[in-house]
Amino acid sequence: MLKHNLGYPRIGIKRELKNSCEAYWNNKNDLNNLFEIGRKIKKENWEVQNKAGLDLIPCNDFSFYDHVLDMALLLGVIPEEYMSIHHNNPMDLYFSMARGFQKDEWDIRAMEMTKWFNTNYHYIVPEFDKTQKFFIFSNKIFEEVNEAKKIIKFTKKIKPVLIGPVSFLFLGKEKQRSFHKMDLIEKLVPIYIQIIHKLQNEGVNWIQLDEPILGLDLSDREKETFKYAYKEIGNKISSEILLTSYFDGISENISLLKNISIKALHIDLVEDSRQLHKILPFLKESNINLSLGIVNGRNVWINNYANSIKKIKKSIDFLGEDRIMIAPNCSLIHVPIDIESENLIHKDIKNRMAFAKQKIYELIDLEKIIKGDKNILLENKNIIEKYKNEFNEKVKKIEISNENFNRKNTFEIRQKKQKEKLNLPIFPTTTIGSFPQTKEIRSIRNKFRKKIISKEKYTKKIKEFIVDVIEKQEKINIDVLVHGEFERTDMVEYFSEKLQGILSTENGWVQSYGSRCVKPPIIYGNVNRMDDMTIDWICFAQSRTTKLVKGMLTGPVTILQWSFVRDDQPIYDTAYQIAWAIREEVLSLEKNGIKIIQIDEPAIREGLPLKKKNWKFYFDWAIKAFRMSSSGVKDETQIHTHMCYSEFNDIFEHIADMDADVITMETSRSKMELLKAFSDFSYPNEIGPGVYDIHSPRIPSVEEIYDLIEKASKKLPIKNIWINPDCGLKTRKWEEVLKSLKNMTEAAKIARIKLVNQLS
Ligand code: GLN
Ligand code: ZN
Repeated sequence: MLKHNLGYPRIGIKRELKNSCEAYWNNKNDLNNLFEIGRKIKKENWEVQNKAGLDLIPCNDFSFYDHVLDMALLLGVIPEEYMSIHHNNPMDLYFSMARGFQKDEWDIRAMEMTKWFNTNYHYIVPEFDKTQKFFIFSNKIFEEVNEAKKIIKFTKKIKPVLIGPVSFLFLGKEKQRSFHKMDLIEKLVPIYIQIIHKLQNEGVNWIQLDEPILGLDLSDREKETFKYAYKEIGNKISSEILLTSYFDGISENISLLKNISIKALHIDLVEDSRQLHKILPFLKESNINLSLGIVNGRNVWINNYANSIKKIKKSIDFLGEDRIMIAPNCSLIHVPIDIESENLIHKDIKNRMAFAKQKIYELIDLEKIIKGDKNILLENKNIIEKYKNEFNEKVKKIEISNENFNRKNTFEIRQKKQKEKLNLPIFPTTTIGSFPQTKEIRSIRNKFRKKIISKEKYTKKIKEFIVDVIEKQEKINIDVLVHGEFERTDMVEYFSEKLQGILSTENGWVQSYGSRCVKPPIIYGNVNRMDDMTIDWICFAQSRTTKLVKGMLTGPVTILQWSFVRDDQPIYDTAYQIAWAIREEVLSLEKNGIKIIQIDEPAIREGLPLKKKNWKFYFDWAIKAFRMSSSGVKDETQIHTHMCYSEFNDIFEHIADMDADVITMETSRSKMELLKAFSDFSYPNEIGPGVYDIHSPRIPSVEEIYDLIEKASKKLPIKNIWINPDCGLKTRKWEEVLKSLKNMTEAAKIARIKLVNQLS
């Protein structure tokens, strides 16, 4: 039974990669320094995995920025414009694709970045030209194999990792509409074959080809492409190809694997354990080995050995031990590196946790158990039991009754009452919540966190910022004001630190993209609101103005989505606990006189399962969680929600089902195209389509904004339209914000005069 790994975190335990990349970009260190850090991280990673006793160790899973970008360079997929810059070295070419290139007369854009399937990792989107040629451009993978040889010693243990050809095409995009990227496969496969031959010449035995697309709903074209690619590869390659799928099951696509000659197939049993029933009989008829993705590479909890052993034994019964491999379900880049570098987590919780390094050792444990070690199994059982008793006892049963999911009255009735009570003009203006976070604000938060300044001093300072932001908004003549979110570093972290049952780590960094890392909170127990979380700030802001101030909260789905979630109860139970905590905060805001409350849910869309058939289950609990958090209030209290993206077409009914009184979202870049969906579907509630693109320093003119408002008013009932930016303003500069918002309120004023007669 071979034990192997699909990929190891590459940021370094102290985020060395981030620091040295950023230093390199800022001319604070040279390329040698950067490479040195890279070599050190790779060495450590290989040593850890080798020492633990893995049989196959991944190589080429390291990356200075992104492994998809690495693939693009390996295959020579480099847009013209980057090739034509005169670079000092290949790394500068690489980084200019990732980050753009501004120097002297050059001003070249960065390539597009997007989410890696349903994870929080982002990759650089390869761009294909109609006349795309593929050729081996970068030597990184070969150099890395040679580096690995020096550390791992047994070359046969080294398993280079590549994104497979079909997934690579799938992840990229066509530059022109006149061709389909899948048609490039005939040109692409020969290069893969060349690469694999070259790797064989280096003496490696196994090669891992990642084809995560096997877990998706595939079109016929994609399926044909897959069959073609692997038939070709099978015909021309004799080495041990490990074909890996992850992030979802592949039962639906299993027929694609008929008659292809690969050595082994990896499946994700964490996301879909039921697929085993289908895969085992299928493989029995072939001579393909099976790699069981059994240790969760996307969460931070220890493996339940008893459960894993059942699956391993079943597989052994079917195929024989020689044909079984074990591994994490996916690359470990989605979890932090080492739980041992956490010193502040309660030991009973820590015992229950495993980061990347611990997950490697879990594979070793599983093998020992298969060989007869009963103690390890028992110990694992005890930890899980103990945890259950200790952290589950005080389970707060949330009442899952309809009453807690529904507002008291329909939107129609609520809208009438709200219009009377809130007394806002038509085309009311507002912002999404945050205002520019200056160096000074960040430094004050930091000092407070490090206890350099007292709570009193901190509070006083934040209040000064609030006073200032309220004055500024009044001056610009915005209708519904916000307090600016100066007390928040991050919209999820702020709440997770205040809620019982959620903890923060010291070093639990995970790569989000390039040099950017995040430290997701960990939901370890029952979530409980111990005290007011936002009331003081919001009420203080309200006390400074006669205009309405909007309460500002992060929604339950977003808190859940951007955290590591406990695995010992169904996800919806956790979601409802968070929802209940937010609901209590909403009610407290209402009780304290706040009349408008926004509950942000920017992560609703990204939580979507990869396969459509699983959407229903997701939306069912996600929408209910939002409704639970928002529905306790009186008819007169207005609930807003915010989402910062513009693809709503396929999830429209669910967004409407959230039943927020107002939804604000991104539309300015698409010039209101999105509103077509909203009008076709005749969205019943109020909408604030963004009229100011906050992702750019550009200041939109009054005319531009007015045009957008006019466009919106042709698609939507005027009484339902709000005027606001696309998203929060925290990344922008005050200068830009003040001018832009001024233009926004000006445009609203004109719209009120010009467009008002259309009001029926
Ligand atoms: N209220 C948050 C802000 O304005 C919303 C952030 C977001 O949508 N990601 O910053
Ligand atoms: Zn947003």
